[in-house]
Amino acid sequence: MYFAKKAMEPIEEEEIDVWACSNDNCSCWMRDNFSFEESPTCPLCQSEMSKGTRLLPVLQNHTRKSN
Ligand SMILES: [Zn+2]
Repeated sequence: MYFAKKAMEPIEEEEIDVWACSNDNCSCWMRDNFSFEESPTCPLCQSEMSKGTRLLPVLQNHTRKSN
């Protein structure tokens, strides 16, 4: 039972703005960290990319210090 606490930690997720490839055969997507003036094209298949959101795990910052 000693491992129970660690296993019960919930995984936090947050909705992130992303560009996703419109090609059904391509799973490429990228974070919307760049301010594109218009829709970018997929770097893999050159298809149009459409804006959307994805649920991604929040990156845990273990170096965060308490004040
Ligand atoms: Zn693609």
